[in-house]
Amino acid sequence: MYPQEKFKLVSAQKAFNEAHRKKLAHNINKYDVQVAVGKHEFKDLENLKQIAHLKKKQAIDNLGYYLETFEKNVIKNGGEVFWAEDGNEANKYVLDICKKHQAHLIVKSKSMVTEEIHLNDYLKKHALESVETDLGEFIQQLDNEAPYHIVTPAMHKSKEDVARVFHEHLGTPLNMTPQEMTMEARKQLRNKYSEAQIGITGGNFILPDIGGIAVTENEGNARLSMALPKVHIVIVGIEKVIPSYKDLGMFWSLLATYGTGQKITVYNTIATAARLPHETDGPNKFYVILLDNGRTKLLTDPALRQGLYCIRCGACLNTCPIYKSIGGHAYQVTYTGPIGKVISPHLKGFDDYNYLSDASSLCGSCSEVCPVKIPLHKLILLNRQKKRELGHASTLETMAWALWKTAMLNRNMMNMGNGKLKSFFINKLIPNWHKHRAHLKFPPQSFNELFKKSKGNISP
Ligand code: SF4
Repeated sequence: MYPQEKFKLVSAQKAFNEAHRKKLAHNINKYDVQVAVGKHEFKDLENLKQIAHLKKKQAIDNLGYYLETFEKNVIKNGGEVFWAEDGNEANKYVLDICKKHQAHLIVKSKSMVTEEIHLNDYLKKHALESVETDLGEFIQQLDNEAPYHIVTPAMHKSKEDVARVFHEHLGTPLNMTPQEMTMEARKQLRNKYSEAQIGITGGNFILPDIGGIAVTENEGNARLSMALPKVHIVIVGIEKVIPSYKDLGMFWSLLATYGTGQKITVYNTIATAARLPHETDGPNKFYVILLDNGRTKLLTDPALRQGLYCIRCGACLNTCPIYKSIGGHAYQVTYTGPIGKVISPHLKGFDDYNYLSDASSLCGSCSEVCPVKIPLHKLILLNRQKKRELGHASTLETMAWALWKTAMLNRNMMNMGNGKLKSFFINKLIPNWHKHRAHLKFPPQSFNELFKKSKGNISP
């Protein structure tokens, strides 16, 4: 089944699944309350968001320079950098490193980039065990499901759902409390850190001036994944660059607040290299894989490149009326919600994934909440325009919009017939509209007619 067909099918199921919507609403409501509190920590939030936007603009507009500086500094620190044009190349680099270090067990912290390239499946095919150590990802891996949300991978599961997953896969009792389940996950994972030969993490920010990778998390699992195994591999999208480590103060606090409503995330780590001779902790080898995988396609477009400013806080997902209806799995892509609608068609292939830009009400709420001020709804509109220019819009859709445009630009046409007649025709013209909605009903007279009659004396 094509992704678009699957998207329509799953969306229709999810939108009318009351239990699913209830769980989603419960978790997003909790998020909304926390974020509102978190925002009070900032003196001039709007100004800070503008600065963050400009910093990301600076980084993306000079991406080549910053990435080369980063590479130079990583090498200076004793690490190695690989440039991966696509997911296959990135996976192959990981496999080569695993072979080189005779690894068979890998511990992994949460990383959407590794989801994007399906790293776990790839490693499994090559008989390598890769264990997710973030609690949400651990649950999803047990349940054989992709992450549901870019920040909270198991957002769609209630505590009862998680207890069921643990029961089925780990044989634990069904009535476990969240604390007991956390302790069980801890028990399952603890030894893996010391047994694993390789730790893989993503990166929240690339720090070119010090050749470092900033990782932010709440559980300490990323820190253990990068500190205990002898080899640390970072896989990171090239757009994660910020101009300097000095900007972290701003980005870390914005990410914490918009991601989870925290003042600052619990563990914030900068990895710069393998352990130095006088240091007691850390890996012996440090590798960074810089992933393009379609990002440079976005870079070629002066407007759409703003999609690369994203710091993956998830705020636009949580505010999106579409996401709140259909949830994360319906989209059929790794990056979902408004930011996914902007970037995913370019990362995955515009021919097959252009349908994503249609899954938007264009209400603009996403642009309003974005901490780096990406004009998301305008970029979604640009993707729609591109879709039409590339001939992906159906004849029926093209004709419908041409008709709508003609009518909108012609007052006489708009005033033709009474409300009843208009309602009859429009409901006949778009029969699918009222499959799940009330019939469209026009008022007896248009505003223009009322205005004319009243000679301009319309009171609100
Ligand atoms: S687009 Fe903005 S709001 Fe959405 S995840 Fe990225 S940074 Fe957050």
